[in-house]
Amino acid sequence: MDGFRHIDTWVFDLDNTLYDANTGVFDQIIEHMTQYVSDRLGISREEANALRRTYWQTYGTTLRGLMEEHKIDPYEFLRIAHDVDISDVPQCEVIKEKLTLLPGRKVIFTNSGQEFARRMTRHLGIDHHFEGTFTIEDANFLPKPRPETYTAIIEKFSFDPKKAAMFDDMQVNLKTAAETGMTTVWINCGEGSDGDGENGCEDVPPYIHHQTGKLADWLEQTVPQHPVKKK
Ligand SMILES: [Mg+2]
Repeated sequence: MDGFRHIDTWVFDLDNTLYDANTGVFDQIIEHMTQYVSDRLGISREEANALRRTYWQTYGTTLRGLMEEHKIDPYEFLRIAHDVDISDVPQCEVIKEKLTLLPGRKVIFTNSGQEFARRMTRHLGIDHHFEGTFTIEDANFLPKPRPETYTAIIEKFSFDPKKAAMFDDMQVNLKTAAETGMTTVWINCGEGSDGDGENGCEDVPPYIHHQTGKLADWLEQTVPQHPVKKK
């Protein structure tokens, strides 16, 4: 637990963090988002994919871009984007066991919607570990890495960011986390969220304090096998 002994609150991203990028779930979500943009704006899938990426880069999420530029209904978007089959996603025994042994409060901080976050964490068998989930609805649809959204989650769960650690596969989300005082752990899954494919960079920026290929690897290497005794 070196470097983490002062931590009392653990903040987890959901997509490509609590479940792995190689499950293909996020790829399905991206497909649905692209189809939505294509149908809603009456453009080809190729154009829709390019526009989706532009919105993601400009606004943080495709959804935010569609809200700003096309006044779409966010609830309809979330319902369609997250209507994906997760039945093949395996439960991870390491994550299940180690979340029990990780001392402190655990919360989820995701740009995904509430229904999907609940469905996925139940499916993964880990929902009971979390004190709460801060979803894009809670964020008033202002996604990570917007600073006001970090202020909102810190207020909602009233934790000290200097005693919190955040796990996310998106470096940019960890930049804001570090600015609030959080310790950061980058899940370097080799591909960017939202299908950008541009997350990996040669030089790891200073706001990335720790990194791992998969959350399960970090938990396995960091969290002791037995419960930490309270002093
Ligand atoms: Mg993610």
